[in-house]
Amino acid sequence: MSTIKELLHHAADLPQTADAALILAHVLNKDRSWLYAWPEHSLTPDQINQYQQLLQRRLQGEPLAYLTGCKEFWSLPLKVSQDTLIPRPETELLVETALELPLRDDKIHALDLGTGSGAIALALASEKPQWQLSATDISPKALQVAKENARTHGLQQIQFFLSHWFETLDATQPFDLIVSNPPYVAEGDPHLQRDGLPHEPIKALTAGDDGLNDLRTIIQHAPHYLQPLGWLIVEHGVDQGEAVQALFRQAGFEQVSTRQDLERRDRISLGCYPRSR
Ligand code: GLN
Repeated sequence: MSTIKELLHHAADLPQTADAALILAHVLNKDRSWLYAWPEHSLTPDQINQYQQLLQRRLQGEPLAYLTGCKEFWSLPLKVSQDTLIPRPETELLVETALELPLRDDKIHALDLGTGSGAIALALASEKPQWQLSATDISPKALQVAKENARTHGLQQIQFFLSHWFETLDATQPFDLIVSNPPYVAEGDPHLQRDGLPHEPIKALTAGDDGLNDLRTIIQHAPHYLQPLGWLIVEHGVDQGEAVQALFRQAGFEQVSTRQDLERRDRISLGCYPRSR
């Protein structure tokens, strides 16, 4: 039998010491502070086995969120699986920007394209209970995860659609706001081999040689699905700000701008479509 104290002591020399504690807390179904309150608590052989297997996977580079099945976004604990991208803190900038838009505050209908775990749609729904939300994904399994997250958080105003971008949406019901964190990494980018990315769904990460394929599709088609004076906000790579702004302008958007994340890297761009298509 091993105690919490002994296991944490063993993990102290690992580069992932903090994650070891979180894995241990997950195996015990407690929060991290509980571990420090009960250092002499003994684990059952099953629990030790589970802890060691998960720790091994972590040491081999698997992201913690896939081991615990959970990641917090916008203060909402969300279920994640290998079918969904793990929500990133920088994507909260997209949510913040959406919430600051000069929209009238009632009866807004917003769309989240490629919702994955549902992170953006759920964050918006939690802040704006009066908004009506639609969320799409091309992956039925991701959509299941997103729906489960919506149920867990009691956010029932989100409608989910299995769709490749706009494909199954009805253009006669345009939106006031469209948001998306699409795949935008260039195929062959060495970043794909690092930071746990090999464990994430490749379809949610890459988009052609320049990473812009999906952004092009979304920006070009969005005007058909926007109300006059509707907004589109997309996340993109740190070196794609200029190219994405050009795509917005070519598609007829106005008030086009780019915002930087906390690390001062170009991260999202937005524009307003002035008329109906
Ligand atoms: N920002 C993520 C990364 O580079 C990619 C997310 C995405 O493609 N939407 O790790």
